[in-house]
Amino acid sequence: MINDNNSTTKLESDQIKGLRNDIESPCNEKKIPLWLVLLDNIPTLILFVLGAILVYQVSTIGAVIFVVYSLFSFVFFWARICPFCHHYNTLACPCGYGAISAKLFKKRQDKSFKKVFKQNIEVVFPNWFVPFAIAIYLLTTRYTNQILILTIAFSLIGFIIIPLISRLVGCKNCEIKEDCPWMKVNIQNKDQSIHSGEAI
Ligand code: SF4
Repeated sequence: MINDNNSTTKLESDQIKGLRNDIESPCNEKKIPLWLVLLDNIPTLILFVLGAILVYQVSTIGAVIFVVYSLFSFVFFWARICPFCHHYNTLACPCGYGAISAKLFKKRQDKSFKKVFKQNIEVVFPNWFVPFAIAIYLLTTRYTNQILILTIAFSLIGFIIIPLISRLVGCKNCEIKEDCPWMKVNIQNKDQSIHSGEAI
């Protein structure tokens, strides 16, 4: 009984949070420009193409599975994360997924955005780490200049350019960045640097 009450209270609290966020969020009035949507998506698409080429070096079937998984991870993200977000069904989403998600999946408010983001974000990690692990394997077992260039391009886009675009452009002015675990880490680091007197 005690557990039931606790879970009901937690569920209600998450729903209240979701409703409050919706009311307070001005996202419905904001429209992200097309160039920003493209800036968010083109590097990701290039990353997946480079990732597929790297996987292809060891297995054709592996490359096909990688492409299918990448597509699946996009759809999973639209299904399991975006429906809880303030940007769902608005043009305020920096990458445009909020509008796509609304066409395919229903809005959800039974959990907080922060919670579902943390629970489901790992679905995209293999898109980065599988090709990178294969690149390291190829560099150590059958090095060629072509593999080196592919690895450098993949790493630059995946580990430097995409995170920089998110932090400096895409997510920089987002109204919900304090709710987003990805941006919250950066905000906390910044606060800690200010308190410890470090230059930023
Ligand atoms: S901001 Fe992120 S979670 Fe929210 S709708 Fe856009 S892609 Fe989905």
